[in-house]
Amino acid sequence: MSSVTLSDVGLTYPDGTVGLSGIDLAIADGEFVALVGPSGSGKTTLLRAIAGFLRPTSGSIHLGDSLVADASTLVAPEKRELGMVFQQHAVWPHWSVERNIAYPLRLAGVPKVERRARVDEVMALVGLEGFEKRNPTTLSGGQRQRVALARAIVGRPRVLLLDEALSALDEPLRDKLRLELQTLTRSIGLTVVHVTHDRDEALALADRVVVLDAGRIQQVGTPPELVSSPVSPSVATFLSDATIFTGRLLADVFSAAGHECRVDAALLEGGGSDGDGSIAVLPEDVTLTPGAGAVVMSSLYGRGGNDVVVDWKGIAVRCRVSGRRPLVGESVDVRIARAMFYPSRLPAAADAHDRAAAGRLQG
Ligand code: ADP
Ligand code: MG
Repeated sequence: MSSVTLSDVGLTYPDGTVGLSGIDLAIADGEFVALVGPSGSGKTTLLRAIAGFLRPTSGSIHLGDSLVADASTLVAPEKRELGMVFQQHAVWPHWSVERNIAYPLRLAGVPKVERRARVDEVMALVGLEGFEKRNPTTLSGGQRQRVALARAIVGRPRVLLLDEALSALDEPLRDKLRLELQTLTRSIGLTVVHVTHDRDEALALADRVVVLDAGRIQQVGTPPELVSSPVSPSVATFLSDATIFTGRLLADVFSAAGHECRVDAALLEGGGSDGDGSIAVLPEDVTLTPGAGAVVMSSLYGRGGNDVVVDWKGIAVRCRVSGRRPLVGESVDVRIARAMFYPSRLPAAADAHDRAAAGRLQG
């Protein structure tokens, strides 16, 4: 087990595409970290840089105390003692399950008796007992992914790297494997870096979540921190389906193209300064009341509340509505219980975390 430390890591591909820039991230020994972000945000690039398949063009990477990559050092992937699982389970179809899983041990020259014992142990851990002699082509997708996982952990890696490892699986199998992945990695205290485009999966599994966009870290935090205090409108939208209004805050009133809301200044954190900016409104902070100010555009049933979008004077507002499910086409009024204000011009010294000034709005 090992910590992972990235210091000011940048990675530009040979064709000039910027994969990563200014990545500072310290993952603690035994921590489960999820990397999320839209497609193309740099998740795979970051994982492959940790794995050693890509060399950072600036900065450094440490595993535990050992430097594995910087301008003059590049430790080969097989010397980094990592386990990896990808979306496309790269198991060898012509080898038995047990031979697939034992492969890293044979590569490392582990004697046969110990190999047997370790393979049996991980097969039990991932719930594959009895499948030793099976050919991977006769397994289900979920079982093959368990083979890949077993092979990734059999060598007792310092860090387990997962790139969309569950994304190709259908529900409810994906749900089941999420639970198993957590049980398994927590029970042996593995350090895990789990890349996924699925924000719910990231929030559900991780101790801390890293939100990437355009090769940069937007925010790092625990799931409740990210959900309740997103540092920017884009993080609020990406993680929580927040609706963004762009406009101006002036003497407690936020106005955005015909939308006026009174802001209770006493509840603005961080000295919510007047001026241009945006507010982010989370779906659960919107309530719909009888009225004629907005029209229901869609209304999807959800266990935790109906997922409703209303057209409020030209802005599509996401709402989570418990109780009666509104009908498409129904007229309603929108009330906003809480919003976060993000001034568009920041004082030079402001830290990113000061950008979010939570305020209370009354529609
Ligand atoms: P993600 O995994 O978040 O979808 P990637 O890390 O794969 O994103 O890609 C990040 C960026 O780097 C994207 O703009 C992508 O097009 C680019 N990229 C990825 N691989 C290469 C490559 N081999 N050459 C040039 N650009 C690449
Ligand atoms: Mg990727």
